[in-house]
Amino acid sequence: SQRTKIKALLAGGQTGTEVTVKGWVRTFRNNQFIALNDGSTNNNLQIVVDFQNTDEALLKRITTGAAIAVTGQLIESLGKGQTVEVKATSIEILGDSDPEKYPLQPKKHSLEFLREIAHLRFRTNTFGAVFRVRNSLAFAVHKFFQEQGFVYLHTPIITASDAEGAGEMFHVTNFDIGNPPRTESGEVDFKQDFFGRAANLTVSGQLEGELGAMALSDIYTFGPTFRAENSNTTRHLAEFWMIEPEMAFYDLNDNMDMAEALLKYVISYALEHNKEDIEFLTQRLLEEEKQKPQQERSELNLLDKLQFCLDNDFMRITYTEAIDILRDSSHNKKKKFQYLIEGWGADLQSEHERYLVEKHFKKPVILTDYPKEIKAFYMRQNDDGKTVRAMDILFPGIGEIVGGSQREERLDRLEQRMNEMHIPTEELWWYLDTRRFGACPHAGFGLGFERLVLFVTGMGNIRDVIPFPRFPKNAEF
Ligand code: ATP
Ligand code: MG
Ligand code: MG
Ligand code: MG
Repeated sequence: SQRTKIKALLAGGQTGTEVTVKGWVRTFRNNQFIALNDGSTNNNLQIVVDFQNTDEALLKRITTGAAIAVTGQLIESLGKGQTVEVKATSIEILGDSDPEKYPLQPKKHSLEFLREIAHLRFRTNTFGAVFRVRNSLAFAVHKFFQEQGFVYLHTPIITASDAEGAGEMFHVTNFDIGNPPRTESGEVDFKQDFFGRAANLTVSGQLEGELGAMALSDIYTFGPTFRAENSNTTRHLAEFWMIEPEMAFYDLNDNMDMAEALLKYVISYALEHNKEDIEFLTQRLLEEEKQKPQQERSELNLLDKLQFCLDNDFMRITYTEAIDILRDSSHNKKKKFQYLIEGWGADLQSEHERYLVEKHFKKPVILTDYPKEIKAFYMRQNDDGKTVRAMDILFPGIGEIVGGSQREERLDRLEQRMNEMHIPTEELWWYLDTRRFGACPHAGFGLGFERLVLFVTGMGNIRDVIPFPRFPKNAEF
């Protein structure tokens, strides 16, 4: 089954040689020209069919969507925009596709429509580009950390802890849920469950990751995380992938430097290795923008936006400074952010985040030192007694892409905060042990992988950057 990938052929196949290619028919014109695609690139390879010497029955089976194998001679192409084409000497139908039933037509389909036909969605140019970019970004994440000696640590999917304390967990049980065993007082008896206790799908690998960092010094996780939240937004999924590095001997500044370096590295990697796909996505967006009224169109196209992000230092300001900016903003004259004036301490909504990034600073922003009330228990407390060493990175068009902090390494402070927040310290004894034996300053963050892919591809909905999106009422495929 030797075949050459179409991308490689188009990039520099030796004309005059015999090649075998396999793929799916995009179109078949005039019984003569097949546009063949194998997913390695959005560019189709033109196959020239010698229809006079080809069996009529075979010609009929070369239909849109069919899988075929072609052997022939690679020749120079006179067609516009293509370098080479294949003059077929043999064509084999590997899998028929009934043209009456094939749902992909050579026209534009809405992304919503494509989400309903899982397997064909992959055959479109848009999703081909998105998933190749996603692949590159994942690889670049590993490359970035591996080059710096980080250990890729696999934290558990099934866990007992709720790291974020937001109560957004999916429960894991092997009970007959219609008829679970109960205690004498009638409550569900988790002692009899598979794990001998209540367990859930992880919302974050951070707490376990910290244990790794307190021995291996620099670790990262990169795996699926789950949140039973209202993910009916364009930025939330119920199942998403998160990259969570945790570094010993790091403070908040080191943490910000690391996150900024990671983002810039992976974006520039994608720009370099997926130029063609990103150019395609840029073009796709430009066409979409043309439908909008002039004043709603964005100033920068996708390529410029990515480049801009590489060329500029991220703006670093505190939460308190951000609130002042939002209060003073001309935008607020319309009472947009009025409620922020009423009390320092509110969490920012994505409209605030996007205002800071897109209108005020016009570049990525790192917000630090949030009020402790709106952040998780494990963040290091500042001496003011009110704020913690948190950082959120905000991106244009996205809002929060990274959430992180320097961790509270002082046992007494940590326990005190847990008590205030009614988090049982006994249950997290294994975590608190890291503060008992050789505690040291350390920091880390979580980068939502799909938010990154969303940014780099310029797609509008997070459901369209993951192969099989999970959101409310959607787990069939
Ligand atoms: P948000 O404020 O957007 O709900 P968060 O503050 O709840 O995010 P964190 O707990 O800080 O999220 O998680 C770290 C990162 O994981 C976020 O910065 C974001 O990039 C990503 N993330 C969080 N929740 C989701 C989700 N439901 N779907 C996709 N990515 C997510
Ligand atoms: Mg959230
Ligand atoms: Mg948040
Ligand atoms: Mg966050």
